[in-house]
Amino acid sequence: MKITEVEAFTLVVPMEKEIKAPISFPHADALAGIVFKEYRTTLVRITTDEGITGVGECMVRLAPTATRDIVAYVKPILIGADPFDIERIWDLLYSTMMNRGHYKGFYIEAISGIDLALWDIMGKALKMPLYKLLGGQVNQKLWAYASSLRFRGMDVLRQDMQSYLDKGFNAMKIKIGQNPFDYRSDVEVVRQIRQAVGNKITLMVDANCGYADDVKTALQAGKALEDLDIYWFEEPLSPDNVEGYAYLRRNLNTRLAAGEAEFTRFGFLPFFTHEALDVIQPNLCRTGGFTEAKKIAAMASAFHVACAPHTGSSSAISMAAALHLAVALPNFLAYEYMQSDWSKDQKNPLRWDLVQLPIKSFKDSYIEVDDKPGLGIELNEEIVRKYRV
Ligand SMILES: [Mg+2]
Repeated sequence: MKITEVEAFTLVVPMEKEIKAPISFPHADALAGIVFKEYRTTLVRITTDEGITGVGECMVRLAPTATRDIVAYVKPILIGADPFDIERIWDLLYSTMMNRGHYKGFYIEAISGIDLALWDIMGKALKMPLYKLLGGQVNQKLWAYASSLRFRGMDVLRQDMQSYLDKGFNAMKIKIGQNPFDYRSDVEVVRQIRQAVGNKITLMVDANCGYADDVKTALQAGKALEDLDIYWFEEPLSPDNVEGYAYLRRNLNTRLAAGEAEFTRFGFLPFFTHEALDVIQPNLCRTGGFTEAKKIAAMASAFHVACAPHTGSSSAISMAAALHLAVALPNFLAYEYMQSDWSKDQKNPLRWDLVQLPIKSFKDSYIEVDDKPGLGIELNEEIVRKYRV
């Protein structure tokens, strides 16, 4: 089989009103006009001489056309290659620009989209769901938590919490860190949610790097959260503060989770060697696709670290891909089942309408994944036409 065409395209959905960062972040106002004024993604579509087409996603927050352009640049590496030579292709793509400084960031996000599309092709060619190729069915059902409770006032928070319970979730994540100088109000929000849901519901807390390099405040927040039976404390610090994470992990009894901002096995390595995390959260559309995520998860298992794939604000393609990886991982912990959008008034069609997720059933907070070939998804071409730039 040979690759005959590679195409990347960007989808942009304007938001009716720019919103302040709905996640915890110290620069929410400054970011609103840059990051939170559009829903965006970049998709990769690869075609072969046997007429099989695969699709992938590059994670996008800023500059969605950057990854699109990178895919166009590396296209000559792909044309004529056999998609099954996936390790060779990945290594070629990586090593071509690694020594020019492109071993993180947009470049790896572009490779991620290509890698997903190639795996989709392999699954379709073999008429197997991707999890079968990634290691087979390790987990028949995936424990899923609702992501996320975003702080939009206590009333909205309670309504969202109730809607997740009504859908059947037994676990949910709360975003904190609205004001890093006032960790007590964060803790108070979590306390109220804990009181409302009782002790049978699992709660995770995500600070989205809200405490930046303020390790001591993060520790104070973490200590206070310990009393509220938090399952994990996610991204309290900046992603580059490995030593800070290691310090927190030594001093807290709550699990520490992070990794959504990290690229490749080389980026994750210091978090393992510094014993800095209990849970890693690689995003397939950022970290290097399935080919790289498998290696990262295997490294994690050698350090007895669990893997909870991140999906975040990506499109439904990233969510579908993470399902397949999760089925095949022995050290899988929990699936981030996105339920909320940046705007509470405008749903993200890239998440809800672009493809249908390959989910056979969702019951009592557990997902059973469909066994359609490849990623098990089909692009809604109407959505593509409408939002393509
Ligand atoms: Mg997060």
